[in-house]
Amino acid sequence: MPASSPTRLRTTATVLGTLLVVLVEMALLTGVWHLGDGLEREREATAAVRGTLAATSSPAMPADVAALRGSVDALVATGTDRGRPLARLVDAADHLAAAPGDAESLAAARTATAALGADLDRARTRVALTAAAIHAALLLVASVGWFVWFRRIVDRHRAVERRLTAQQVVDQGERRLLELVRYSADLLVVVEQDGTLSFVSPSTRAVLGRDPKPYLGAGLSRLLGDEAIPVIRLMESGRAGVHPATARVTHADGRRLVLEGTASNLLHEEAVGAWVLALHDVTDQQALAEQLSHQAFHDPLTGLANRALFTDRLAHALQPRTEPVPTAVLFLDLDDFKNVNDSRGHSVGDRLLVVVADRLRGTVRPSDTAARLGGDEFAVIVEQADAAEATALAERILLAISAPIEVEGTVWAVHGSVGVATAASGQTSTEEMLRNADVAMYWAKEAGKNTVARYDDARHAASLDVRALEHELARAIDGDELVLHFQPTVDLDTGRVAGFEALVRWQHPQRGLLPPSDFIPLAERTELVVPLGSWVLREACRAGATFGEGPDVPTVAVNVSARQLLRPGFAEEVASVLDASGMPAERLVLELTESVLLDDFAGVERTLTRIRALGVWIAIDDFGTGYSSLSYLSQLPVDILKVDKSFIDRVTTEDHAASVTLAILEMSRSLKLLTVAEGVETDEQAAWLQARACGRGQGFLWSRPVPLAEARAMLAA
Ligand code: C2E
Ligand code: MG
Ligand code: MG
Repeated sequence: MPASSPTRLRTTATVLGTLLVVLVEMALLTGVWHLGDGLEREREATAAVRGTLAATSSPAMPADVAALRGSVDALVATGTDRGRPLARLVDAADHLAAAPGDAESLAAARTATAALGADLDRARTRVALTAAAIHAALLLVASVGWFVWFRRIVDRHRAVERRLTAQQVVDQGERRLLELVRYSADLLVVVEQDGTLSFVSPSTRAVLGRDPKPYLGAGLSRLLGDEAIPVIRLMESGRAGVHPATARVTHADGRRLVLEGTASNLLHEEAVGAWVLALHDVTDQQALAEQLSHQAFHDPLTGLANRALFTDRLAHALQPRTEPVPTAVLFLDLDDFKNVNDSRGHSVGDRLLVVVADRLRGTVRPSDTAARLGGDEFAVIVEQADAAEATALAERILLAISAPIEVEGTVWAVHGSVGVATAASGQTSTEEMLRNADVAMYWAKEAGKNTVARYDDARHAASLDVRALEHELARAIDGDELVLHFQPTVDLDTGRVAGFEALVRWQHPQRGLLPPSDFIPLAERTELVVPLGSWVLREACRAGATFGEGPDVPTVAVNVSARQLLRPGFAEEVASVLDASGMPAERLVLELTESVLLDDFAGVERTLTRIRALGVWIAIDDFGTGYSSLSYLSQLPVDILKVDKSFIDRVTTEDHAASVTLAILEMSRSLKLLTVAEGVETDEQAAWLQARACGRGQGFLWSRPVPLAEARAMLAA
C-alpha cells in the first residue's frame, strides 16, 4: 500500500539512526574508558621507580642503580611526556649510573620521582574530570535525544490515534446516514444525468408497496408514471438548485397517493453528481386540509355554506359588472323554533334543522347558495333573479319546509318567515343586502309569521324613525314626559263612578301629547314596557291613594302587559308599590289582555294567584278579541271581564254582535264575574247593556280619559 511506505521509510530511518547513535555513543564511551590507560601505565612504571628508589639505600649499590636504570627505562618506554621531572629523573639515573655512590644524584632521583608522581596525579585528576565531563555530556545528549525522539513518537502516535478516531466518526456517520436512508419514510430516488435511476430507497416498499430493485437503471416514469413528466422536464432543463416536486401516484394496492417533496440538482456535487428526488406521502394531510377547508366554509350540522362562505359568494355576486345583474337574498328564520329546543331538547331541534336544510337545498337551483347563518337562520343567494322571482322562490321554500317532519314519533310542522332583498350587482354592499333581507324577515314575523316580506327603503326609513322613537321613549320614562289620564268606569244601575282606568300618555317635547297606540306597541316589542309599566303602576297607585277612604271610593285599574307579568318578581313589585303608596289592595285592578295567557299559562296562573292573594282584582281586557276560552276563565283567578268595544259598537245595530255580547254576559254571570262594557258611546248602548244586567260601562258617553285633577273634580261632583 503506497500510504504506508513513508511510514516504513520513517521506521527504517529511525532504527538506523538509533543504531548509529548507539554505536557512536559506545565508541565515545570506549574512548573515554581508555583515556586514562597511558597514565595508568605511567603510574605503574612510576610506582616501580619509586619502589626501586625505596629499596635503594644511600649510597646506592651498583645493583640498585642497575635496577633503577631498568625501571626508569621502563618508564620512558611508556612514552610518558612528563617533561622536566622526567628529564631530571633520567639525568639523575644517568649520574648514578656513572657514579653509583653519588648521594646527590640519588636524592635528585628521589625528588624528580616525587615531582613526577605529583605531576602524574594531576594529569590523572584532569583525565578523570575530562572523562566525567564527557560522560555527563554524553548522558545529557543521549537523554535529550531520547526525550525528543520519544516525544516525537508519542506525538505521532497521538496524531495517528486522532486520525483513526476521526475516520471512525466519519465511517459511523456514513453508516448512520445509510441506515437513515434505508429506514426513511421518504421516497429517495437518485436520477443520473442520463435519466436512469441509480438509487431507489427501500422505503419504496412502504410508500408505494413496490420492490425498489426492478426500478434501478430504469427511467423515472416507470416508477411515478405520467406524473413524472414535469419532474423529468425539470431535470432535463438542468436548472440549478432545489425545486418543489409533487406527484399523484398509485399504490400497489390501488390507492391514489399524493407525494410531495423536492427535486435537487446535485449534478455538480462531487459526492453525488446526479438529481436527488425526495418525496413523502402527504395524502392524509391533504385530505385533512381539504376537510378543514370544507369545515371552515360549511355548517357542520347541515353541510350548508356557513356565514363566511355565504358572505364571500354574496360579495362576488354583488361585484360591479359592465351589465348589472339582479341578485336576491332570502333570509329565512324558522318560526317559534325556540319552543322545539326548549320542549324537546336540542337533538330533536338539530334533526329538524337538518331536514329543513335538505329541503332548502332541494328547492333552490344548483347555482344558488343556500347557507345556515346560525341557530334557525338560513339564507339563500339567488343570482340573476328579480324581486318577483325571488319572492316566488321564497314561497316555494316555505311550502317545502312546512311538509310534516316526523322525529322520534312526533310529527312537526316547521314554518318560517322569509325576508327578500334585491339589488343589482355593484349597487350595494354585502352587509347592506343581508341587513335588508334581515329587516324584511322581521316584517314577515310582524305580519304574523309563516310568510314572505319584501324589503323596501321607504318602510325601512319609517322603522328607523321607530328606532329613534325608542331612544326618546327610554329617555321619556326616566324623565317626566309620561302622564296618566283617568277614564271612569260607571255603575250602570246607579250612574256612580265605580272606578278609574289609568291610561298612559306621552307628553312629547316636539310632537305633543301622544296616545298609547303611538308608543305602547313599540314599548311592548322592546323591554321598555317593563320600566314604563312600573312607572304607571306607581303613579296610578299614588293617585288612587288620594281618592279618599270608605266603601264607595273608586278602584284604580292599571293595564299590565305580558312582558311585565311574566317577569320574575312582578307580584312582589305590586305588593311593594301598594305598600309604598298606601293604596289598599282591594282598590287596585290589574287589566290583562287574553294574549298574555298564550305565552306561559302556568307562569301567568302562578303570578295571578299570588297577586290575587294580596286582594288585588284581576280583569280580562278587550275580552272577545283574543283567544277567548271558557276553560282558562274558569281556571284563572279572574274577577272582571271587560267586553271589547268592537262588540259594544254594534250591539244595538247588528244582531250578531248583540248575540255574542249576550253570550259573553251570560258566561260572565255564570262564572260570577263582574262585567264592564268598553267604549260605550251612546245612550242606546248604555240602555241595551243596562237592560241585560251588564254591571258597568266605560266610554266617551260618560267621559274621555282626563287628567288627574279633572278626575278628582268628577268625584267631588
Ligand atoms: P284599553 O286598556 O282597552 O283602554 C281603553 C281604550 O279605549 C283607551 O284608549 C280609551 O281612551 C279608549 N276608549 C274608552 N272609551 C272609548 C269610547 O267610548 N270610544 C273610543 N273610541 N275609545 C274609547 P287609549 O287610552 O288610547 O289606550 C289604548 C290602549 O293602550 C289601552 O286599551 C291599553 O291597551 C293600552 N294602554 C294604555 N295605557 C297603558 C299602560 O299604562 N300600560 C299598558 N301596558 N297599556 C296601556
Ligand atoms: Mg284597559
Ligand atoms: Mg280595553
